[in-house]
Amino acid sequence: MKRIETIKELRELLKEYREQGKSIGLVPTMGYLHEGHMSLIKAARKDNDVVVVSVFVNPTQFGVGEDYDSYPRDFDRDCELIKEAGGDIAFIPSVKEMYPDKDDIVVELEGDITKGLCGMTRPTHFRGVTIVVSKLFNIVNPDRAYFGQKDAQQVAVIKKMVRTLMFDIEIVACPIIRESNGLAMSSRNKYLTDKERQEAAILNQSLGMAEGLIESGERDASCVRSAMELMIGSVPSTDIDYIEIVDRDTLENIETIEGNVLIAMAVRFGKARLLDNIMLEV
Ligand code: AMP
Repeated sequence: MKRIETIKELRELLKEYREQGKSIGLVPTMGYLHEGHMSLIKAARKDNDVVVVSVFVNPTQFGVGEDYDSYPRDFDRDCELIKEAGGDIAFIPSVKEMYPDKDDIVVELEGDITKGLCGMTRPTHFRGVTIVVSKLFNIVNPDRAYFGQKDAQQVAVIKKMVRTLMFDIEIVACPIIRESNGLAMSSRNKYLTDKERQEAAILNQSLGMAEGLIESGERDASCVRSAMELMIGSVPSTDIDYIEIVDRDTLENIETIEGNVLIAMAVRFGKARLLDNIMLEV
């Protein structure tokens, strides 16, 4: 496993692999890796000859007052886990390497796809995601790139960006990896106390409850949402950012539950803002 910090060195190495006809998979991450990230690396390992894992805490996707400075970082441990999961290259650039110019370019999707869900409280977040992923795509030029379904809106945004900007890259969405109590794994779970970590299982439980309601015939999205709010609200330390029931691809709100549906939420627990979701075909 090679650790690379500069774009120049990475490009030179990847050029050699390309000339040998090797396929390249990219797994973009912000590091502090856990089994969720490792599942993406393992998926990329299966499909590609060369697996590049980027580790970059991207400042442009954090809003003012968010946790950019305190975001957990441990690049040495990340390299060990990348190796263990079968990655070939850890690309760990500095902020200067990724953003060399004071004035950068804006890559921002038109329309509502970035405005709902997380975009409501993080209005500049997806602009930061689309610029950094565009840069990574241009640096690595992968055949495939791997993203976790935990960040369902991110997957929808990246797929739309790839279509719109005509990147010749296959986007592979991987399932959510969870702790044994059902809590979706996240680097930000580090912010939780043991008690909060236990209590945060309520997010996944509320999704299971919603699925049960829908299976038994409930089709009114607002009824399902209210039941989830009630259940999550029963844990005193929660602060619901949003619970939305939307079309899986357009992320538009739906009133009647049918077709490909995404139930997504963000909930604050102490210092952490946690995401979870479920996809249903109704
Ligand atoms: P992050 O480091 O949080 O930016 O995440 C990097 C990638 O890993 C993103 O595509 C995430 O969606 C994905 N990811 C994070 N947590 C999980 C998880 N629990 N299960 C699956 N994928 C995940």
